[in-house]
Amino acid sequence: MLMQKERELVVVYGRKLSVAGLCPGTSGNLSIFSPETGLMAISPSGMDYDQIQPEDVVLSDLNGHTADGNRKPSSEWALHAIFYQNKPEARAVVHTHSVYCTTFAVLGQPLRAVHYAIGDAGTDEVPCAPYRTFGTPELAQAAIVACGNGNAVLLANHGVVVCGSDLPGAYSLARNLEYVAELQYRALCVGTPNVLTQSQMAQVLERFQSYGQSPGGGAGYLHP
Ligand code: 13P
Ligand code: ZN
Repeated sequence: MLMQKERELVVVYGRKLSVAGLCPGTSGNLSIFSPETGLMAISPSGMDYDQIQPEDVVLSDLNGHTADGNRKPSSEWALHAIFYQNKPEARAVVHTHSVYCTTFAVLGQPLRAVHYAIGDAGTDEVPCAPYRTFGTPELAQAAIVACGNGNAVLLANHGVVVCGSDLPGAYSLARNLEYVAELQYRALCVGTPNVLTQSQMAQVLERFQSYGQSPGGGAGYLHP
């Protein structure tokens, strides 16, 4: 099977996203990009994560042409493709409807630096893109414009999309942002959160370069 390893990873991480509660039902989608072939291995549309097998994962080019697979690719293939086209280091994209991130997306408000873990997104704030219909090129365009230099963006009245240098990294960024969004929500319930300053976050981003066990820094962080 073509890109078997990538297809298996999409299955495994789809289940992890589902079990972690980040992708209720068949919501959300994930992909891995191979620059050598120009293909992404992307989850099939509208399938339960616990039913997806490696052969259900679709290989598609960045124009939405299926290169291998019998399933319909995720309706958000253009959203994934636009991240690979605009973020040269991105090798994985994860889109979820996780409840706390989506709460702020419903409010049209960004995630703020209420906890330094937001630095995993490579920025001190995760912006919110304006509302566009799901599965459209307009949504993909709005998302990449709002995303700016970071690795994550909220989608108004919809969810969140992140990219990473590999799928474990993108998965952990999706989890970290849900954690930050839950803290922001809870803090707002009882008071006014203290938000870290740009200079405090600049130091966090600096330290993230050497965080963890890998020489280039911690898993999940994209490096310039
Ligand atoms: P797919 O099942 O087509 O991937 O769509 C889910 C989703 O989240 C659409 O935005
Ligand atoms: Zn969605």
